[in-house]
Amino acid sequence: MEFEAVIGLEVHAQLKTKTKIFCSCPTSFGAPPNTQTCPVCLGMPGVLPVLNKKVVEYAMLMGIATNCTISKHSRFARKNYFYPDLPKGYQISQYELPICEHGYIDIEANGSKKRIGITRIHMEEDAGKLIHDQIRPFSMVDFNRTGVPLIEIVSEPDIRSSEEAGAYLRKIRSILRYLDICDGNMEEGSFRCDANVSIRPVSSVPFGTRTELKNLNSFKNVEKAISYEIERQKDIVFDGEDVVQETRLWDPEKHNTISMRGKEDAHDYRYFPDPDLLPLAIDDNWLEKLKKNLPELPDLKKERFIAQYGLPEYDADVLTGAVELADYFEACTKEYKNPKQVSNWMMGSLLGLLNAEGKNIDESPVSPSNFAELLKLIDQNIISGKIAKAVFEEMAKTGKPPEEIVKEKNLVQVTDEVLIEDIVVKLISSCPKEASEYKAGKTKVLGFFVGKIMKETKGKANPEIVNRILKEKLLAD
Ligand code: ADP
Ligand code: MG
Ligand code: ZN
Repeated sequence: MEFEAVIGLEVHAQLKTKTKIFCSCPTSFGAPPNTQTCPVCLGMPGVLPVLNKKVVEYAMLMGIATNCTISKHSRFARKNYFYPDLPKGYQISQYELPICEHGYIDIEANGSKKRIGITRIHMEEDAGKLIHDQIRPFSMVDFNRTGVPLIEIVSEPDIRSSEEAGAYLRKIRSILRYLDICDGNMEEGSFRCDANVSIRPVSSVPFGTRTELKNLNSFKNVEKAISYEIERQKDIVFDGEDVVQETRLWDPEKHNTISMRGKEDAHDYRYFPDPDLLPLAIDDNWLEKLKKNLPELPDLKKERFIAQYGLPEYDADVLTGAVELADYFEACTKEYKNPKQVSNWMMGSLLGLLNAEGKNIDESPVSPSNFAELLKLIDQNIISGKIAKAVFEEMAKTGKPPEEIVKEKNLVQVTDEVLIEDIVVKLISSCPKEASEYKAGKTKVLGFFVGKIMKETKGKANPEIVNRILKEKLLAD
């Protein structure tokens, strides 16, 4: 029997507000422990939460961007459980009335397009952080993170493979970053994902029992953990046993998942409406204003890049993957009018460099206008494409404009035909064996001659002229 995977993802995205969701403590990452706390986020008796309007706005933006219905009325609820990083003994979240519901996003995986449903998006507060001492027998708690705003984005169980899960996550992260409401940093935990995985015989209707995977702190780990878990469940079923509903932890070192705890039933949380917070009513004007001012999102930008710049789908996809990348591209095309050339050089040289140095495009040492200048120098025959690569590397190191580097290093292309002809003639007469091979039809030796000429001119001879004159002279007499 053939089995297929059924996957639903829960994403927690930390919102980029300046202050926490129910108090005015700062949300910045990396401050000394417990320096960003107050009686409200420490859960002292008698304090009252005050909702941060920005949090609601950001949650609405994500709902609009993912085609959700925005609830006119939603409510905060207490999710009760005990844990040392949760000083109140409950987390304020949303339960039966979340702010956004019934949305979807479109993804592309394994070469085909697919729509993934979004069940709900709700707002909640984050918990603190436990730091387990490696040597001494105790743990410490940092409450700086308590009360930092999150949205939880819950998908429908529409995902069927780890590739689709990866594509879904990347799209969600990209949308959050386009909206500028979450920095999407998985390592720092501002973008986290739990994966629910089950298997069922292909085309059977009921779902199988699911496990929930945690500790997935990179895209790679999400995909690996899901693939591992699918195989683990298949083994269980083939052995004639039943998958147990439980939470499992991914171990990125051992590449397996281990059981963490049995499934706690939702009822265990004893959800009830938070009596300290009023029901949330969304004003129509506010919602309309947000809809109207929504920035251009990845799908639309990609379509526009194809239509407006004539880019292939692949290029448009890469360049609209992050809004900063798309902005960089558009800044270049304002000054240099060959979009495909910009795209080639961005995807080749620029992204290669940034990847190697682990930098984001907004940290690029090469500005868009210097980048455009470089491409102009190639078009104007001042430098060859090959030299341009070397100039680019120098630009990346020094941040200098390309003209300056070309002048300093004397890299101007040799286009003087008399000079090139002179070099060609001398070279042919000093290599009679290769010359006669060429004449005999072994056209591959042309590369040998081109290489020698490039060596002699330090790569500066114009390759087109070199090729033309070489052929002429080799075939002469
Ligand atoms: P819980 O709080 O129990 O984790 P949620 O409703 O927050 O429940 O999330 C459940 C997630 O699990 C959703 O993303 C949903 O699509 C997914 N899911 C539900 N049933 C299955 C199943 N049988 N197999 C895989 N995923 C599932
Ligand atoms: Mg869950
Ligand atoms: Zn506080």
